Amino acid sequence: MTTATPTTESTAVTEESRDAIFDELGFPTDPDNLYTQTVGQMLSAASLMDLPHRTRIILAQPKNEVIVNFPVRMDDGNFRLFKGYRIQHNNVLGPYKGGFRYHEHVNLDDVKSLALLMTFKCALVRIPFGGGKGGVKVNPRTLSEGELQRVTRRYCAAISHMVGPDQDIPAPDVGTNAQIMAWFADTYMLSSGQADNNALRVVTGKPVSFGGSTGREKATGQGVSDVLAEMLPGIGIPVQGMTVVLLGFGNVNSWAGRILQDMGAKIIAVMDHTGAIRNDDGIDCHSLAAYSEKHFGIRGYEKQATATGSGTHASHGVEVISEEELYKTSCDVFIPGALEQMIQPKQAAMMDCKVMAEAANAPCTPAGDRVLRDKGVEVIPAILANAGGVTVSYFEWLQNKSCVTWDGEHVDRELNRHMVIAARRALAARERYSCDLRTAAFAAALEHLGDVYEVRGIFP
Ligand code: NAD
Repeated sequence: MTTATPTTESTAVTEESRDAIFDELGFPTDPDNLYTQTVGQMLSAASLMDLPHRTRIILAQPKNEVIVNFPVRMDDGNFRLFKGYRIQHNNVLGPYKGGFRYHEHVNLDDVKSLALLMTFKCALVRIPFGGGKGGVKVNPRTLSEGELQRVTRRYCAAISHMVGPDQDIPAPDVGTNAQIMAWFADTYMLSSGQADNNALRVVTGKPVSFGGSTGREKATGQGVSDVLAEMLPGIGIPVQGMTVVLLGFGNVNSWAGRILQDMGAKIIAVMDHTGAIRNDDGIDCHSLAAYSEKHFGIRGYEKQATATGSGTHASHGVEVISEEELYKTSCDVFIPGALEQMIQPKQAAMMDCKVMAEAANAPCTPAGDRVLRDKGVEVIPAILANAGGVTVSYFEWLQNKSCVTWDGEHVDRELNRHMVIAARRALAARERYSCDLRTAAFAAALEHLGDVYEVRGIFP
């Protein structure tokens, strides 16, 4: 692979070669389209290396795009039709791998974008999986438990011809959890006639009692923390005492908050879909996570914190703030862990942080990214920062395949090893290509994908 130092001229070349591929593949020109944004980031990295045109166009499109519409009986006896997606982006490195989400805004281009990111995440961390993603267009909070189970079983039945333990392996994402994975696995095992435990590997993120891995629930937050602990000293920020703002407080960020707090960081502001809070003395993320789980969000925590706070975790002094105040909160590290494209130029202009670690996938638009870069913010991209989830999913799949059980210490140690090596790999690529860390992470993944395409060749 040859490298080139980016200059104004090479940036123009980058855009020119990206636009040529967009034209060739008939992509929309909409600058707000998440899929073309993500492909654009990948092609920017590709233009820094000597990657064949065929590899670029293959990686710019998913291999398979499936949309299903399926009926589900609701509790009132009526039937409702649901729309589901499964996108298989690439499997040159191994079976497709990627979560499925339940959210009212799930759409084809967003799922395609998330599937592409999975291909690059697995390649960067060097786990033997490709990239996939799925979803159902529904707000899970509006469903009863019975309805949620029936939606999950019908979604599984609708895509069961394309998933499998060595073919395509889903996992949890926004709005889905271990219980939903258990229903998915059970449906697949019964409907495919594979009741043996081998078929358990069809999904990861299962409950520990049903083939799940210790440490999977916290894995993405743990991986974010491992990457920060590895990279921050080089940026001159000690983890001990650093200040953190969390955007989103679901699975990923509630764990990142708890783990970073235990490492000595101070979480000074948190926002989820129900509201935002701040405490300059630090918010106790353990008590906030317990509260949020019970109340389906952080709204009202400030009242509970005042009523029950012992003061030992500085739970007094929590104040409600606006969304704007959250973005403007001065901190060392800002961690977006909610949905895609939340950080646009307006939000980026308000942000006052030294580092942004992307716990969420594609939380920042390219325009928002440029504002942060101009402000000198170090952005740790999603394909590196949040790769801990799929890495422990790989451990779960391995444990199921070899009928062994790893203890928590073993999982944490192996996860840390993978995350630290991936972080160093991205930093080394940044040196090699003289580019920003996002482009470098894509480039480090592309080198691996390019090499495998080179040795495998294109059939026939
Ligand atoms: P989750 O559903 O558990 O949490 C999502 C969080 O986002 C919630 O706290 C919700 O309140 C918040 N949110 C939603 N809309 C918001 C808004 N408008 N303003 C503020 N907050 C809002 O989902 P998760 O599993 O924690 O996933 C979060 C992100 O991390 C997603 O981008 C997902 O793709 C990515 N991710 C998840 C995993 C995983 O293992 N779960 C792995 C890798 C990446």
